[in-house]
Amino acid sequence: MKEPLPPTCAICAVQACDAEPARLQPPRFCPMVTDGELLAKVEQAYLTQDELRQLAVHSARTEASGYMRRTRIEDIMDFARRIGAQTLGIAHCIGFMQEAKLAMGIFEANGFRVHTVCCKVGSIAKETLGLKDHEKVEPGSYEPVCNPVGQAALLARAGTQLNVVLGLCVGHDSLFFMHSQAPTTVLVVKDRVLGHNPVAALYLSNSYYRRLTTGEGADDYLRRRIARSQPAPDCDG
Ligand code: SF4
Repeated sequence: MKEPLPPTCAICAVQACDAEPARLQPPRFCPMVTDGELLAKVEQAYLTQDELRQLAVHSARTEASGYMRRTRIEDIMDFARRIGAQTLGIAHCIGFMQEAKLAMGIFEANGFRVHTVCCKVGSIAKETLGLKDHEKVEPGSYEPVCNPVGQAALLARAGTQLNVVLGLCVGHDSLFFMHSQAPTTVLVVKDRVLGHNPVAALYLSNSYYRRLTTGEGADDYLRRRIARSQPAPDCDG
């Protein structure tokens, strides 16, 4: 049997999925062509699983009602109200204490109960999980591993009904999403280099961040740039 083509929506120039049915011809690799049966099952799941349907319906209402008017934190509160969540959880990075406090204040000022848990909770030494000293951010020092599973467990125990991720690292956020009992949304995405605005790397990937499209690491790129700026060994300058 022929393997279905893998989904590659990112290169689609048609976007038939966003038009009335049958108005546009989707491309050959479109999941609506290659995986129609699976998509029909998913549609059924929305219709038969009440929680799925409610979250999908309320997300759409939040999107439409605040479109181009509400900030993300306002959208989060709108969504929370729609799904009946009065108690919010914030899973935040220890580097975002100030931001977590600000977010907590905003949520509370808008009538929500809020519980917040920092990523280092439990203070589990990195060595406990088998990490070596040279794998730390600062070798030679005590470093607890981030504990997103603990954050999720504590917020579940506190009875949060919607969790908000605030600046968790890549991978730690994955673990939090996997273990959070309540639905989870994101307020802030960490990018230590780009002021927590990771999309800047995409916008600049044809210019200042061209290295991203060549597969070259930041260190290799800098080494090459520095080497290029050195005079050739046999030149006078
Ligand atoms: S039409 Fe199909 S391939 Fe194109 S964006 Fe929509 S789902 Fe993806």
